[in-house]
Amino acid sequence: MRLATTLLCLVFAALPAAAAELPIFDAHVHYSHDAVELTPPRQAAEILRRAGLKRALVSSSGDAGTQQLLAEAPDIVIPSLRPYRTRGELGSWMRDDGVVAFLEERLQRARYAAIGEFHLYGADADLPVPRRMVQLAKQHGLVLHAHSDADAVERLFSQDPQARVLWAHSGFERPEAVAAMLRKHRNLWCDLAFRSEHGGGGKVPAEWKALFNEFPDRFMVGTDTFTPERWHYLVEHARWTRAWLADLPAPLAERLAWRNGEALFAHWKPGAP
Ligand SMILES: [Zn+2]
Repeated sequence: MRLATTLLCLVFAALPAAAAELPIFDAHVHYSHDAVELTPPRQAAEILRRAGLKRALVSSSGDAGTQQLLAEAPDIVIPSLRPYRTRGELGSWMRDDGVVAFLEERLQRARYAAIGEFHLYGADADLPVPRRMVQLAKQHGLVLHAHSDADAVERLFSQDPQARVLWAHSGFERPEAVAAMLRKHRNLWCDLAFRSEHGGGGKVPAEWKALFNEFPDRFMVGTDTFTPERWHYLVEHARWTRAWLADLPAPLAERLAWRNGEALFAHWKPGAP
């Protein structure tokens, strides 16, 4: 058995990297104005390709970064509209009427697959600005990418029971709390960005395996480039992701790696009017 494994490793080591590499759908990439300065669009697109990303859900404060990267890599980038005009609005946007005007203006000018990632907790989800954002998402058929606690996710679904919510970082919740939410909400998906306990050392702990097996269609991976410097971590993160995915049966690993992302964003057709 050990000999067989060793031989298999040798075979894989001999394959060109591209053939052995699992494609990745990175559901959590930001490319804000400061990242554009540090890593210009052409270089950023190269990083996405070097990381072996099949697709990336990209958003940026101010939206210009998303549009520039989309122009550079339309085969990879799936654009998401962030309700932030500049860095630093993460704690104030939900009380800022100017955000509604920004979203409406952007939605008239460009096409998106999602709104977010936005930060929203508890009862704030029921304030007028987030309510309007949920309506806009419904009207334009957009996924809501929510960095939220379970309470805010519940409120988003009460506002629009048909909403599709991608729960950023799986709410930073424990597996059993994530499972409870997934059992309750059919239209809830989870990204695993900026967490490591589900795959440290290339091993998936039993409680996470159980969660992935119960909901094989609801998880996707992500890096979260929340600071410009993290752009240089994308390649290493993709490698780390492939290492723990290898601890799962191949069909399940493929779903988490890219199939679930492709399915959730199947409505995104690049280039269509
Ligand atoms: Zn983020």
